[in-house]
Amino acid sequence: GYSRSAGACTAANDVVEVFPRIPSFDYTPPAYTGPTADEILKKRKEFLSPSMFYFYSKPMQYLFDENGRRYLDAFGGIATVCCGHCHPDVVKAIVNQSNSLQHSTILYLNHSIADFAEALASKLPGDLKVVFFTNSGTEANELAMMMARLYTGCNDIISLRNAYHGNAAASMGATAQSNWKFNVVQSGVHHAINPDPYRGLFGSDGEKYAKDVEDLIQFGTSGHVAAFMSEAIQGVGGIVELASGYLPVVYNTIKKVGGLCIADEVQSGFARTGSHFWGFESHGVVPDIVTMAKVGIGNGIPLGAVVTTPKIAEVLTRRSYFNTFGGNPVCTAAGLAVLKVIERENLQENAHAVGSYLKERLNALKAKHEIIGDVRGRGLMLGVELVTDRQLKTPAKVEILQVMEQMKELGVLIGKGGFYGNVFRITPPLCFSKEDADFLVDVMDYAIAKL
Ligand code: PLP
Repeated sequence: GYSRSAGACTAANDVVEVFPRIPSFDYTPPAYTGPTADEILKKRKEFLSPSMFYFYSKPMQYLFDENGRRYLDAFGGIATVCCGHCHPDVVKAIVNQSNSLQHSTILYLNHSIADFAEALASKLPGDLKVVFFTNSGTEANELAMMMARLYTGCNDIISLRNAYHGNAAASMGATAQSNWKFNVVQSGVHHAINPDPYRGLFGSDGEKYAKDVEDLIQFGTSGHVAAFMSEAIQGVGGIVELASGYLPVVYNTIKKVGGLCIADEVQSGFARTGSHFWGFESHGVVPDIVTMAKVGIGNGIPLGAVVTTPKIAEVLTRRSYFNTFGGNPVCTAAGLAVLKVIERENLQENAHAVGSYLKERLNALKAKHEIIGDVRGRGLMLGVELVTDRQLKTPAKVEILQVMEQMKELGVLIGKGGFYGNVFRITPPLCFSKEDADFLVDVMDYAIAKL
């Protein structure tokens, strides 16, 4: 049924009609020659009758406001809704599981948690086979860092400047953007220079950045560390791809001093980057601990996980550790359904194909609009950085808000982030189509031309 949710949006399972695509306009720079806002709005059909949902194959990349206006969701609940809003298979799994067992705590193993843990572990390489469930990415990272500290007997953790890892004590410590930190105790974390090819100190020279980690260990710690933690592509930080060659060198350095490598796959996992199922795979590294949450593990259901090796997991299995709701059977049933949908609907391949196409179109837009300073990312995790001066890379903080508002008016929801808040974050459901990509780019083009 038609339901309301916070923020005056409703999910998409009532939709009936194929989204009216506007054609790719033939723009002639510098003057804008595309359709007017009114024309675009006219083409965007409104919500019709719920009963026809079943005839419609993939309505799940849309959200609706209280007036029934449809929006293409290019942010996916902050990179969370991977199969699409209210995917019928995920809904069915949740309902079925709710009818049989809603909660038992992990004291008593049940099929839902066991089946999902097994399926999840099968997606990870090597010895990464022990799964701990949590309710969020923050909890997953807290647990991962605690495990690394217990396992190594060290306290020091290294993370990257511009990282976002959560909002509790240790994870906020690992987060390194002042706008996400509070002045409370977050000890034991050292922040390495960010290997950011666009804004970083050493451009795209991954090895130079990696040297800084060695330096940090020598001069900032006792010479040993518990862990190095990083995202494969920084999400909240503005879709920053780590300079090529960086992670393999750093992983070696950390291993040499007895530390563990933690991959935070909260945004970059579950097929989002298209070329691989996990973001770390594109860097050619194998972590000791992998954390995951939003990104699609539960398609929006509160669910997180930490996966590690039996040897490392022992530090917890020897003690009494538990999390009341972590591994709730309704959530793990959703998780299992998500894995099946990703596979059956070839969402990884789709993220790769549509993401590459979208990136190409965004790069063409960059050639046309001076305000676009950088286009980056992989698969359906893309960033568009707006700057008022390409040389100085001056963040277009006000302009991005205007473009975002105009895009919303025309029916496209898009995220924004980065330290200066001037980067568009494009992380839609992975069922996003080429037509959706065209619509998104055309609307962005129009909105930028209107500045
Ligand atoms: N790690 C990364 C990379 C994230 O992007 C986030 C949230 O945005 C977190 C951890 C924290 O996850 P949560 O908000 O579920 O606690």
